Amino acid sequence: MSKPDLTHLTRRRFLQVAAYGLALGNAGLAAAAGRRTTAPFFRTRGVVLTPDDLTLPDWPKRARMAGLTTLALHAPHSPRRLADYMRSAPGRKFLAACRRHRLAVEYELHAMQDLLPREYFDRAPKMFRMDEKGQRVRDGNLCVHSAPGMQIVADNAVALAQALRPTTGRYFYWGDDGCTWCRCPQCNGLSDSDQALLVANRILEALRKVDARAQVAHLAYHNTLPPPRKVKPEPGIFLEYAPIHRRYDAPFEQSDDAQTRREFELLDANLAVFDRTTAQVLEYWLDASLFSKWKKPAVKVPFLPQVLAADLNTYGRRGIRHVTTFGVYLDAEYVSRHGEPPLQEYGEQLRRWAPDK
Ligand SMILES: [Zn+2]
Repeated sequence: MSKPDLTHLTRRRFLQVAAYGLALGNAGLAAAAGRRTTAPFFRTRGVVLTPDDLTLPDWPKRARMAGLTTLALHAPHSPRRLADYMRSAPGRKFLAACRRHRLAVEYELHAMQDLLPREYFDRAPKMFRMDEKGQRVRDGNLCVHSAPGMQIVADNAVALAQALRPTTGRYFYWGDDGCTWCRCPQCNGLSDSDQALLVANRILEALRKVDARAQVAHLAYHNTLPPPRKVKPEPGIFLEYAPIHRRYDAPFEQSDDAQTRREFELLDANLAVFDRTTAQVLEYWLDASLFSKWKKPAVKVPFLPQVLAADLNTYGRRGIRHVTTFGVYLDAEYVSRHGEPPLQEYGEQLRRWAPDK
């Protein structure tokens, strides 16, 4: 379109055009204001941190300023240690700041080592998983066909919920990180995903007795990324999909990397089993720890706004309304080394995304 030639306009005509322009501007503003008052499509807009990241002391304020709804704390190894932290003065201060900034708080936990304490192994090895060589082993997860083992896990999940009570009713008790599940003759017909879901179903049943609105995550990640085939999710189980092995230099859906393609295909496979409206994505867009290969000093997060935008289309158009990212290593040292992480851009894109885009 060419510019209007103002030399041919009379003064009155010019004023009419100007007034029309202003009117359009006001209409545009009104429409924008209308959009702002509409609730964002993504109901959970979160970041997942560890207590070590709270050396950046105003994380809750930063999250609120970025338009996020949720901060989650992650226990990579020991939920019991995280529970101790939440009872300490810094933990209580964090929770108070989240309340002040009206942020939801959740806890994302690799939990089985604590839910079935490892010291029980010497007395009752049958509660523990069998490895590929047919040996019961102390480390990681449990035998899901051990009735006493499952009972202890359920009881301890309820006990832990006293200290780590999410404000949303959404609980995250995952299997131990990267650990296979049981290969005993009874468990062998069940995949790792089936076994993980069996435990989640059991924890949900126990939690519902103390928290009527409890929901429990089934984590699709690494060895549990393929969907369960034999065990069905009970109502109240939600999918949590964490594609740790994808690449971030191109939109998820468009990557030609074979492993990324596989991770992506298993998203739809999981959505065929789980309710998509309660499903949650746990992404790594801001995860300095992943990009640093979990070794400090942290590298700068290679954040690409266009990748996030395309990925939100991928998730949003599938009806997923809960989106979080790890932000581990985004601490005081990170900010002094690399400057501000792209939290505002992340929060803004999540808040503004709409299905008709
Ligand atoms: Zn077993």
